[in-house]
Amino acid sequence: MSTETKNIVVLGASFAGLAAAHNTLKHVLPKLADKESYHVYLISSSPDFYWRVAGPRAAVSAQLMPDDKVMYPIAPGFAQYDSKQFTFIIGTVKSWDTGARSVTLDTAGGQQQVLPYHALVVATGTRTPTPLLSLHGTSEETKAELSRMRTALNSAQTVLIAGGGPAGVETAGEVGELLNGSPGWFGSGPKTKKATITVVTADSKLLPALRPALAAKAETFLSRVGVDVKKNVRVDSAAPAADGKTTVTLSNGETLTVDVYIAATGVKPNTSFAPSHLLNDRGYLTANGQTLRVDGAGPRVYALGDVASYARGGVMDIYDAAPVAMTNLERDLSAYSPDKPDATPAGPDRTYTANLKETQLVPVGQSKGVGAVFGWKLPSLMVWLIKGRDYMVSNADSIVGGSKWAKESSWKPTDS
Ligand SMILES: Cc1cc2nc3c(=O)[nH]c(=O)nc-3n(C[C@H](O)[C@H](O)[C@H](O)COP(=O)(O)OP(=O)(O)OC[C@H]3O[C@@H](n4cnc5c(N)ncnc54)[C@H](O)[C@@H]3O)c2cc1C
Repeated sequence: MSTETKNIVVLGASFAGLAAAHNTLKHVLPKLADKESYHVYLISSSPDFYWRVAGPRAAVSAQLMPDDKVMYPIAPGFAQYDSKQFTFIIGTVKSWDTGARSVTLDTAGGQQQVLPYHALVVATGTRTPTPLLSLHGTSEETKAELSRMRTALNSAQTVLIAGGGPAGVETAGEVGELLNGSPGWFGSGPKTKKATITVVTADSKLLPALRPALAAKAETFLSRVGVDVKKNVRVDSAAPAADGKTTVTLSNGETLTVDVYIAATGVKPNTSFAPSHLLNDRGYLTANGQTLRVDGAGPRVYALGDVASYARGGVMDIYDAAPVAMTNLERDLSAYSPDKPDATPAGPDRTYTANLKETQLVPVGQSKGVGAVFGWKLPSLMVWLIKGRDYMVSNADSIVGGSKWAKESSWKPTDS
């Protein structure tokens, strides 16, 4: 039996990377005959996992959503594993050499480290334009921006939010309720409107992933908390002005100077370290949409989570995809031998099927919301119960600590 140490390297430690690392340690390695010969490395720019789902509320109030409800230290979640088998590295991946099968990191300690891999899971996700709604580096950067935003909102009289997707609508709802209050159960608008808050969307409706009736309902809920919506208009530019204000130019020729500007105009994949031939035209990592392998990167390389070309984006997709990637990782590792390094496993792979049914929950303020799950419309109260009351923060511990993945998702080749 070989005595070489074979590194399984996971890049990114959010929903997808944490799922990959915990599943590998809990379920993949114990099945391998040479399990002692593997070492799992989890690489993250940030020491903390950010529950970015709650970013819209955390951005407006530390009372409503304190930092310790959105930032979770990663290292303690992995203290359960043998240090001979697992290492967590705080560092940013800067380059990836598919020929040498290694990645190069800038570590938090200021060192450059080249880490060879036997298997690689890329789970570096996406970033929003603002660090309020996703990590741009360490958690400290996001915490500083959350704090800056809460202070700026205290005295804001004009707020412009660019983007009519879920992040823009949720943020506008939180800002509206914070600054203008809620009219109560039967009112249609705030009793006194302290701030002028506007959402600008380039689309003809809010919430592109939801049916028009739900988008219209979201607009009604926004108007309850004093938020106006401008449709079919995009933000052409946003430039800092005097006194911390922002001058925003719109595609309809309007120019506005606002106290607070928040860009919620979608996401970009975190793939700057990846070779360009592995990226699709939108910059996402091109992966096989069934096996979740990155076929163009050589054997035993997988893309998991929002960074992957096959992903629609969203946590539910990751929960469906992680067991598929992990089964195929285990099959590939079992098939390997030093004299046949590129051997492929016998029999069918486990395959992923995207669930494309209308699914999205969008809280609008602290008590209302719109949404649908697998094509079924949910009442506002249900959206509040599931997501709006606490943005589901109670799930974060199980994701960081791995209890979410305590039970293996079983699969037999006949299931394919
Ligand atoms: C405001 C908002 C609300 C949302 N609400 C929901 C919701 O209700 N339901 C839902 O299903 N989805 C929701 N989403 C989407 C959900 O957050 C994403 O689907 C999920 O975060 C994707 O997880 P991921 O692990 O693929 O990547 P990400 O969460 O994007 O994390 C990527 C990780 O990789 C790290 N990283 C990136 N580049 C590097 C590098 N070069 N080196 C080292 N580490 C790196 C980052 O630090 C980060 O930790 C929401 C998103 C936003 C912004």
